[in-house]
Amino acid sequence: MNKEKNILLIEGDGIGPEVVAQAKKIIDFFSENSEYKFITDKALLGGIAYDKTGTPFPQETIDKAKNSDAILLGAVGGPKWESLDYSVRPERGLLGIRKELGLFANLRPAIVFDALIDSSTLKPEIVSGLDIMIVRELTGGIYFGQPRGVEELSDGQKRGYNTLTYTSSEIQRIAKVAFELAQKRNGRLCSVDKANVLESTELWRQEVEKIGENYKDVELSNMYVDNASMQLVRNPKQFDVMVTTNMFGDILSDTASMLTGSLGMLPSASLGEKRSGGKQYALYEPVHGSAPDIAGKNIANPIATISSLSMMFRYSFNLQKEADIIDISIKNILARGVKSADIATENEKTYSTSEIGDELIKEIAKNL
Ligand code: NAD
Repeated sequence: MNKEKNILLIEGDGIGPEVVAQAKKIIDFFSENSEYKFITDKALLGGIAYDKTGTPFPQETIDKAKNSDAILLGAVGGPKWESLDYSVRPERGLLGIRKELGLFANLRPAIVFDALIDSSTLKPEIVSGLDIMIVRELTGGIYFGQPRGVEELSDGQKRGYNTLTYTSSEIQRIAKVAFELAQKRNGRLCSVDKANVLESTELWRQEVEKIGENYKDVELSNMYVDNASMQLVRNPKQFDVMVTTNMFGDILSDTASMLTGSLGMLPSASLGEKRSGGKQYALYEPVHGSAPDIAGKNIANPIATISSLSMMFRYSFNLQKEADIIDISIKNILARGVKSADIATENEKTYSTSEIGDELIKEIAKNL
């Protein structure tokens, strides 16, 4: 592989700059202590971009994003911008970058660390050792389908409508991502649909099965979404990789995230199509938002952002060893009680955002 990689850092708003700063320490550490060189640049998005340039998604950010090898994003939004017109709200920046880069595959792992087992609302035996991956289609389905709207009816009522559409190619490309992930993990893929009621998801099931013909080493199962939501809380460890539509994935991935009990721990990746020359747009970000209530206090949990960096190493740069080192180091520092306020139990010492970054660097250095 090319040993030089360009990473675009988009800090965003609220706790974004604080958590991204910890990930940058790790990027710099690997640059100085491994055979790879990571060059970082910064760009504006969200509320801060609106304040500085008048738009939440400046052209300069689009250009820098397209020229980078991968993007790490903090979070956007906050009360300061909530009264703005919808078209210039910080969240438009986030939707804008996903759309502009064609990021159709959203990967959300849900992992339960032994040291945090009591944070989950489920019984320890149900969640201990949990490690599942939800693959959500991100640019199609009912959130984007046409026609949509609210119309006035002649009898004075209103009628709201949205359209659930998927083309075979949209289904096939997300299915391929999911099968490839399952191959790298435990070889099991569960495709979630509502094929008994919705024709578009009947097509989903047919297309996923067709793609499955090329992945005989992956055991494919199909499940209706109502059953899947029940199974996720009944016995989540039966799953390895799950793949589903935009809306079902939105709901199921939030359910899965709560199995782990800690919003500050959950990373995500959003991937685009593989392009000529093997380039693939990819954006990595924590699942949490900008947490305005704790911004600027150096108490936010940076682990979701650092795990997102580990996903970048794994999926964009194919640096499995380095990603494993980050993941193991996170596990190790948690096991010896290095925890931020959101995950520490009552009598445990709490560590600041920057202290957790520093502890991780020390742990990574030991494991390198
Ligand atoms: P949030 O995720 O920002 O916060 C929810 C709660 O979790 C808060 O109490 C917060 O303090 C806590 N929390 C979140 N991340 C944490 C962390 N790393 N460490 C410790 N505690 C953490 O969700 P919200 O309050 O609904 O939204 C706040 C703002 O963030 C809104 O403007 C929203 O639109 C935006 N938002 C952005 C994204 C994104 O950028 N991807 C996602 C969700 C929400």
